[in-house]
Amino acid sequence: MRLRNVRGAREEMLVNPYVIQEPQQYKGHVAVQIFGNNNPIFIEVGMGKGQFITSLAALHPEINYIGIEKYSSVLIRAIEKQEELQLPNLKFLRFDAEYLPDIFAPGEIAHIYLNFSDPWPKDRHAKRRLTSSRFLGLYDQILADGGIVEFKTDNQPLFDFSLESVKESGWTLLMQTRDLHHSEFAEGNVMTEYEAKFSAMGNPIYKLEAVHDK
Ligand code: SAM
Repeated sequence: MRLRNVRGAREEMLVNPYVIQEPQQYKGHVAVQIFGNNNPIFIEVGMGKGQFITSLAALHPEINYIGIEKYSSVLIRAIEKQEELQLPNLKFLRFDAEYLPDIFAPGEIAHIYLNFSDPWPKDRHAKRRLTSSRFLGLYDQILADGGIVEFKTDNQPLFDFSLESVKESGWTLLMQTRDLHHSEFAEGNVMTEYEAKFSAMGNPIYKLEAVHDK
């Protein structure tokens, strides 16, 4: 994603009520202390401008959603949407996914979405891909028993890499498709910003879901 420095975005992160500040302090108690309930928590890692998770939060008030994004200049766009909608079940974290186990306790997360994650095409950067075995190991630490990782992309090499990574890491593949929008899984699909852009260009959308038995 090409990043533009948005004036004041970093400062806004530190005071905005929709951004969880010093998240480590809530580890193990996020649902109760942040959302005031015991509902399951679903996260999107690398949320970007938040179209996907905002739509989901509006559709499913019985689920707590947290969008995680490392850049303030992108996250600010998600915050702007949420300030209009004021959904009680949607919060954000400005954080690098590398530190997920510092923020969430084992089993605290019910579901993880990865959408159009950065491909990091060079082999030497493979460990940075959010579907690498390194990241799958982090997700495993925070996911509840039966918790699912859902991944969508338009990038075929990244999808092939992710399929391998899922298998090598001992996860079970629940579904996969190489053309989501024309598949049996199309119904109920919620589009992300990147998905809308790339599918409008005619690119097929790839999707997989995987689970790691505890
Ligand atoms: N998910 C959105 C979509 O589908 O429209 C945005 C996709 S964009 C290509 C990938 C986003 O992931 C970028 O905003 C980037 O800053 C974020 N990202 C990449 N690596 C990350 C990490 N380790 N932790 C948190 N966010 C990350």
